[in-house]
Amino acid sequence: MSKKVLVLGEAREGALRNVSFEAIAAAKTIAGGGEVVGVLCGDAVQSLGEELIHYGADRVITVEHPHLKQYTSDGFSQAFMAVYEQEKPEAIVFGHTALGKDLSPKIASKLDSGLISDVTAIEGEGDDAVFIRPIYSGKAFEKVENKEGLLFITVRPNNIAPLSQDAGRTGDVSSVSVDITNLRTIISEVVRKSTEGVDLSEAKVVVAGGRGVKSAEGFEPLQELANLLGGAVGASRGACDADYCDYSLQIGQTGKVVTPDLYIAVGISGAIQHMAGMSNSKVIVAINKDPEANIFKVADYGIVGDLFEVLPLLIDEVKELKK
Ligand code: FAD
Repeated sequence: MSKKVLVLGEAREGALRNVSFEAIAAAKTIAGGGEVVGVLCGDAVQSLGEELIHYGADRVITVEHPHLKQYTSDGFSQAFMAVYEQEKPEAIVFGHTALGKDLSPKIASKLDSGLISDVTAIEGEGDDAVFIRPIYSGKAFEKVENKEGLLFITVRPNNIAPLSQDAGRTGDVSSVSVDITNLRTIISEVVRKSTEGVDLSEAKVVVAGGRGVKSAEGFEPLQELANLLGGAVGASRGACDADYCDYSLQIGQTGKVVTPDLYIAVGISGAIQHMAGMSNSKVIVAINKDPEANIFKVADYGIVGDLFEVLPLLIDEVKELKK
């Protein structure tokens, strides 16, 4: 049976996040030839609708309201539920982002549905789709099927490839008017920490430092390497606890989950809690002076050596290759 699938797109600072396109690709697989409808909530999102269509949505519904300028679970759940009631889909896809993780259980409980969260891959399609998700902090994967009722999944960023952009694709972008009321919180201003360069959770290359980096200054070469590779800097909790960097860079069970094409772990031992946030990276390179370090168990390439000697050589080599 083909399905109508609602996909919540996410925008930040006026631009759609990549995970929106990945969610559309997942929705296409689930739809089995059915309709994929993008949903955008915000105060000025109408102009972003077409881009979702270029990435595979058949049509897009926007909900615009001043109270949707910043995310609140009350505001977004009212907006999304209004679209749900209008469309009555058979399936829903969100990104497994901070927003998606907050909103999806609330919507699932309103709809009395199950929720298959943190999907990293889909086998089969349509009614035969099987969803793969990590369990036990990434130590194992389980396969989950939805046997009946509404199918609701969240997809982990950077795991499901988006469809190629087709600027010639057309579709309807309409709006639904919703009176957003009874908000328990109103966010009047968001002050962002100034961060350099690429967004860590969507970066294709992550250079992460641990306690072995030994100081905040020790992170400077990591930033240089990340810049050269077009990537972002991350960190272990050990490095954050030691005040070498900000907690917003923490990767792991209690930090961000990243799945870049290339993860370079520098002076990180490879504790289970750290690996929960990076072990699904496509290629892992570890630099550690201890040949027994746990990180080498998940590394595709290991460099046993002093990071203060290895990193400058690596940076010089990358500079040479870029000439
Ligand atoms: P260490 O374990 O101290 O390792 C430092 C490494 O650097 C060592 O392997 C050492 O050989 C190497 N090294 C030292 N000097 C050099 C050098 N000159 N050259 C090369 N290598 C060198 N941790 C996370 O990262 N993320 C989480 O989200 C997280 N959540 C947690 C949640 C809970 C409930 C708990 C209990 C812990 C959590 N932790 C988390 C902490 C985790 O258990 C580890 O303590 C932490 O990951 C260790 O950080 P590290 O690898 O940087 O430090």
